[in-house]
Amino acid sequence: MGEVTMGDVPVQGEPLALDLVNTTFVRGGLRGRVVDALCEPEALHDWLAAHRTELGVTGLECPAGVSVGEPELRRFQELRQALREALTAETSGTTWPDAAVRHINRAAHGATRWRELSASAPTGSVEVWSTKDWATAALARVAESGVALLSGEQRDALRACRAPGCILFFVQSGPARQWCSSGCGNRVRVARHANRAKITVDDSG
Ligand SMILES: [Zn+2]
Repeated sequence: MGEVTMGDVPVQGEPLALDLVNTTFVRGGLRGRVVDALCEPEALHDWLAAHRTELGVTGLECPAGVSVGEPELRRFQELRQALREALTAETSGTTWPDAAVRHINRAAHGATRWRELSASAPTGSVEVWSTKDWATAALARVAESGVALLSGEQRDALRACRAPGCILFFVQSGPARQWCSSGCGNRVRVARHANRAKITVDDSG
C-alpha cells in the first residue's frame, strides 16, 4: 500500500467530495486491486495542500503548514467512506444509506463560516470560521461539496465510471465525456476492439 501516492490517483479536479472519494481506486484494470492513496498522514497533507484553494481554510491553522496526524487521517477516511456509500447509492438509483447521510450532515455542520467586517481589512470583509480546528473546517467544506452534488444542479450529471474494474466518480461535463479518464476510455475501446476481432474470427470459422 505504501507505494501508492497522490500522483497515482487517475482523476482529480472534480468537486471536492469526489476528489476525496476518488483517492481510492483500482490499479491494474479488470484484474487489478483496490488501492488507497490516502493511507498515511503525509498523503492527507499532500491532498490538503493540492486542494487549498477550494478548502478555503487559510484563516485557520494552515493545513499545508502543520503536521497532519493519524486522528485527522481517520476523520477524512470516515467521511470518504460515507460519501462513497451515498454516491454509490445515488448512481445506482437506490436510497442514500441513513448512516452515511448522518455522517455527512454531521461533518457539514461541524463548522460554519460567515463574512465579517474587519478593521484590519477596511476595504472588504473577512471570512470567519466557527472553529479554530482546520480539520473540522476542511471536513465541513468537503461534506458541503457532497451535499451540493447530491442535491444541487450537478446531481443529474453525477456518474460512476462504467469502465470494467473502475470505481471512480465524475461529473459529466459534456456528452463526449463517457468515462472518468482517458485511461478508462482507452481500456474500453481496446476491449471492444478485441471483442469485435474475436467475433469476426468466430464467424469465419
Ligand atoms: Zn474510470
